[in-house]
Amino acid sequence: MNRVLLATHNAAKLAELRRILRSSAPGVEVVGLDDVPPYAEPAETEPTFEGNALIKARAAVVATGLPSLADDSGLCVDELHGMPGVLSARWSGVDKDDRRNNELLLAQLRDVPAERRGADFQCAVAFCRPGGAEDVTFGVMRGRIIGEMRGSNGFGYDVLFVPDGHDRTSAEMSSEEKDRLSHRGQALLAVVPILVKDLAT
Ligand code: IMP
Repeated sequence: MNRVLLATHNAAKLAELRRILRSSAPGVEVVGLDDVPPYAEPAETEPTFEGNALIKARAAVVATGLPSLADDSGLCVDELHGMPGVLSARWSGVDKDDRRNNELLLAQLRDVPAERRGADFQCAVAFCRPGGAEDVTFGVMRGRIIGEMRGSNGFGYDVLFVPDGHDRTSAEMSSEEKDRLSHRGQALLAVVPILVKDLAT
């Protein structure tokens, strides 16, 4: 069976890619970072999602010799000129403290009227192969930042983000509903044909 590595320890991301590939590429086995010998994972030092996804996928190929995928994503708020962007996970200065990140974002947008609260979630997925070939795909979920936290599903900024065409936050949606809309779902779907073609040759 063809194996592809998704360079993450996040079980939800692995499950999402496996769900997508089950129908489109049933012969492909997805492994994660907990399934391969540990290696020194690089810091995400680039200013773009694409750059950071490439850093992670390149390091994974070098360490494992497997064709490797990696993603990077974040929230880009219009009124903040695209920030927090690549700093989304540590916007309040503390890595992955979702509550503090959301409180800071709410405070920063306190006086901003509804019509200027647009934002999007963006995701880049890099696919790097041992021979040196590289591709990057993208996904965007557009929406707006509301004035209070709502919902208990999801993670990160989901409690503040209402996708366009909806009136619930992405934290008030089921995972299946969010998967269908999400920036990560779109970027992963876009990489599938490249992956299938590459692994078949
Ligand atoms: P990562 O690329 O999965 O490490 O995500 C970086 C950060 O962006 C997360 O820690 C969240 O703060 C934010 N983020 C990315 N995707 C989402 C999402 O789907 N919902 C909520 N927050 C997200």
